[in-house]
Amino acid sequence: MRKAIVAGNWKMYKTPLEAYEFITQLNASLNNQQLGFDICLFPNYLSIPIAAHECKDTKGVYIGAQNCHSATEGAYTGETSVEMIKAAGASHVLVGHSERREYFNEGSDELLAKMKQVLTAGLTAVYCCGEKLEHRKSEQHFEVVKAQLTEVVYQLPQEQLAQVVVAYEPVWAIGTGETASPEQAQEMHLHIRKTLSEKFGELANNISILYGGSVKPGNARELFSQPDIDGGLVGGASLKADDFIPVINAMIQAQHS
Ligand code: PGA
Repeated sequence: MRKAIVAGNWKMYKTPLEAYEFITQLNASLNNQQLGFDICLFPNYLSIPIAAHECKDTKGVYIGAQNCHSATEGAYTGETSVEMIKAAGASHVLVGHSERREYFNEGSDELLAKMKQVLTAGLTAVYCCGEKLEHRKSEQHFEVVKAQLTEVVYQLPQEQLAQVVVAYEPVWAIGTGETASPEQAQEMHLHIRKTLSEKFGELANNISILYGGSVKPGNARELFSQPDIDGGLVGGASLKADDFIPVINAMIQAQHS
């Protein structure tokens, strides 16, 4: 069965000291209880070592990178390879976040190369997809998301699918305070699962699909209760432990309802 995951994407926020302080608070709140889902935090590269060190004894808490380079190594000043990310203690990598697509012009070929790097290194790739507002308004949202999946996830060998998580993040809901309704999100998650099953059959049922876009304590439980929403990728509400812990609690409640 697929895993539920509550993930926090810290984007370009938090120094290593701030990351340490957050995780100290999170650890104290979790108090080493056994959760029925994973928690994954995506700090800046520089905070990965301290974050990984601080959660190494906390059950079910993982650290990931927000990006990686598409080459194994080489003369790419300023870039970071998957082997470096792995050596720093991360187990997950975000690939194709809409901010990477938009501000760094990352397209499907590059994203596929990044996915291959992550999976070959034995890490978990969280592949982000999602339509822009103009696509939703013109009712192209299902098509756009399908293309993002067929151009990248379809190209992967099915043996590596167990290491793939999909995050559906409608661009119009990211950092805007506007959330897809639970019905809109569920409808798209079902579409994503169907699209994946057209290629991979039953295996698609094992792929966790997270929702992202203004997830917060007040809407997390309802979103996480939808049958095809396996968790969340949380931006703004993951920056303060006092917001993120209630989102974690919302998953606990959703699993018990
Ligand atoms: P948000 O960001 O929760 O602040 O909307 C989500 C994301 O970009 O992953």
